[in-house]
Amino acid sequence: MQLNKTHETALTSWVISAQTEGCDFPIQNLPFGRFQIAAKKDGWRIGIAIGDQILDLREALPAVAWEPSIAKMLAPLAAGDLNAHMAESTADRSAFRAAISSALAVGSSHQAALASCLVAQTSAEMSVPCRIGDYTDFFTSIHHATSVGKLFRPDNPLLPNYKYVPIGYHGRASSINVSGTNFKRPLGQILPPGQEAPVFAPSKRLDYELELAAYISTSNVQGEPIAMADAEDALFGLSLFNDWSARDVQAWEYQPLGPFLAKSFASTVSPWIVTMEALAPFRVPFTRPEDDPQPMSYLASEANSESGAINITLEVWLQTGVMAAAGVDAVRLSSSNFADASYWTLAQLVAHHTVNGCNLQVGDMFGSGTQSGPKPEEGGSLLELSKGGKQPLELPNGEKRTFLEDGDTVIFRGYCQSPEGSPSHAIIGLGEVRATVLPARTN
Ligand code: CA
Repeated sequence: MQLNKTHETALTSWVISAQTEGCDFPIQNLPFGRFQIAAKKDGWRIGIAIGDQILDLREALPAVAWEPSIAKMLAPLAAGDLNAHMAESTADRSAFRAAISSALAVGSSHQAALASCLVAQTSAEMSVPCRIGDYTDFFTSIHHATSVGKLFRPDNPLLPNYKYVPIGYHGRASSINVSGTNFKRPLGQILPPGQEAPVFAPSKRLDYELELAAYISTSNVQGEPIAMADAEDALFGLSLFNDWSARDVQAWEYQPLGPFLAKSFASTVSPWIVTMEALAPFRVPFTRPEDDPQPMSYLASEANSESGAINITLEVWLQTGVMAAAGVDAVRLSSSNFADASYWTLAQLVAHHTVNGCNLQVGDMFGSGTQSGPKPEEGGSLLELSKGGKQPLELPNGEKRTFLEDGDTVIFRGYCQSPEGSPSHAIIGLGEVRATVLPARTN
């Protein structure tokens, strides 16, 4: 994807907060979310985050004499339907982004009309951003696969298929929540150590998984795979994603068909989808170590080698119930980078998912799998950071954690920043995804 005027570092918005240092949503970002005003419950519509505000597209549609092609694209957004916009061609979505960028830029003749279409993000209630038909979770970090594999199979941590096939399983879309939706600790079958029969109990090894969510923008016909050459066009954008996991339930149930109830009780996405076009300045080459098998031809393309990966810094933060009660801010547990962590690119996931003829649908979501980096401290789950629960993490206030306790709030953050020495682009963020673990139900 080519860079254009919407990516220019010097571009500024008349929404002054967009220029605040550390702001996730400068004018170069323009992510989509679905919201209503919390106090009024005045109906869901799509908005675009700018600074600490939301451009309310329901209000913006009649406020300005938009070009007819833009007004046509605004209509479903004003009605709260992001899927319709996701299904537009890459070129049309790009034209829409250019129009919004121009309207929000300093000097726009639309400033006066659109200033009254802003809603403070603090007054908005967000929903899951689109209708997610199906959700597939992948396993793309070789570092996660290896360190988790080591815990279960010390002699054979990485299974022989890993370097050939992007591993995934079909997840549950109905239990995907938006950030801020707290959930009860799940109960399930757990095999206590040394026992032969399971007990039914609340999970004691509840964990998070640091992931990205990728949203699909194409519905391919069943039987007709999406080739690598078209795979980027099948991607709409990315959010942060927490694939909460009950490790004890998982250990007992996962063989031979994979994760089931250990994952399907709740997953959480961040409310804003950052588009692939906004991420374009942060694309980096996709490489494989020389000794590793190179991807099969249906998973390879020149464009993918040149710029298939994306430089996104990801962070995990934790605020325990004790910290929250004492007014202590969350503490950072780890950070990693999507480009270092992932063994496969998003385009490869699209090509692989459809190579058997499986039909994706607009709004489908892919989980990236836990994005653990190469260093032990870059583990994207507590399972890794606590070495399978054997080495508790000590928090600054003296509390210890192997797995999550009731009252713990887990927060992921993500942002893209140009590395030193390369052309500098405006920093854009993915915002955050957070949720708090509530006690298990007792009846
Ligand atoms: Ca996962």
